[in-house]
Amino acid sequence: MIYPDLSRATLQRVEIAELEKYKLEWYVLRLDLIHPVISGNKWFKLKYHLQEFHKHDYKKIITFGGPWSNHIIATAAACRQQHIPCTGMIRGEKPDFLSETLLQAVELGMHLEFISREAYSKKTDPEFLRKITGGQKDIYILPEGGSGEPGEKGSGEIITETDINGYSHIFCSVGTATMFNGIKARIKTGIPRLIGVPALKGFPENDPHLLTGYHFGGYAKYTDELIQFMNDFYLQTGIPTDVVYTGKLHFAIRDLISKYFFQPGDRILSIHSGGLQGNRSLQKGTLIF
Ligand SMILES: *Cc1c(COP(=O)(O)O)cnc(C)c1O
Repeated sequence: MIYPDLSRATLQRVEIAELEKYKLEWYVLRLDLIHPVISGNKWFKLKYHLQEFHKHDYKKIITFGGPWSNHIIATAAACRQQHIPCTGMIRGEKPDFLSETLLQAVELGMHLEFISREAYSKKTDPEFLRKITGGQKDIYILPEGGSGEPGEKGSGEIITETDINGYSHIFCSVGTATMFNGIKARIKTGIPRLIGVPALKGFPENDPHLLTGYHFGGYAKYTDELIQFMNDFYLQTGIPTDVVYTGKLHFAIRDLISKYFFQPGDRILSIHSGGLQGNRSLQKGTLIF
C-alpha cells in the first residue's frame, strides 16, 4: 500500500525580517507535502479509523463533508488505495456542476449522495445513521472530518513523529478540534505551549489555548487582507497556505509577532495541516500560487 510519505514532512524555517528584529525563530511543519491528495492532518485523522475498519471486518465506509471538503477527498483517496467501497454524504442540494473536489472524489471511486442541510445537521444522530445504513452492521460510519477518538489518537502522532524539543509554542488550526485535542493530549508538561487558531466562530473566548479572533467572518469566509497575506507569505517563504485553515493560522502568528505576543528567544512551530486543494474554490488568479 502506498501511504503518505511522512519523510517528506520537512521543517521549514521562516525567514522574515520581523523575526530577527524580535529575536524569534519560526519553523513550519510541512504536512502539506506528505501526499498530493491525502494531505496534512487528514491522513493522521484517518489512520486509526481505517485500522478499526479492517480490524472489525467492515465492508464499506460512509462519511460526510461539504463540496470542497479536504476530508472527503482524503477519504476517497485512502479508500481507493485500500480497496474500500465508500460513500460521501455531501451537504446541500446536488449542484448543476460538481466542485473540482467532488469531481476528483468521484474519479477516485467515491459514490456521492447529496443531502439537505437539515438532514446533514443530523449526521451524528443514531436514528438518522440507522436510516442511511439501512441497519447494516458492516458499514463503518466515519464521522465528518475524521473526528472522534481514532482521529485524536492519530493526530497526536503529528508531534510524536517530530522533535518538538526546544520550541516554546506550537500553533495549529482548529476546525472540529480533533487535531488540537490529539496534540494537546501528547504535550504532558505544557511545554511547548499549544495554541489553536479556530477557523470558524463559536469557540469559547476564555480558553487560554485558543485564539478566537482570526476566523475572518466564519468557516470558509475570507477577506482581501487574508488573501493579501497568503500571497505575501508565499512570496517571502515559498510556502503556500489554504484559505480555510492554514492561511488564517499563519496570519495569526505574523500578527502576534507584531503585537509583542512573544518573548525574545521564543521558538515557534506551526503545523501546516495541508488543505491546499480547497483553494480551487477561489476564482482563478486570486492567489499567485
Ligand atoms: C480538516 C483541517 C483542519 C482542522 O482539523 P480539525 O481536526 O477538524 O480541527 C485544519 N487544517 C486543515 C488544512 C484541514 O484540512
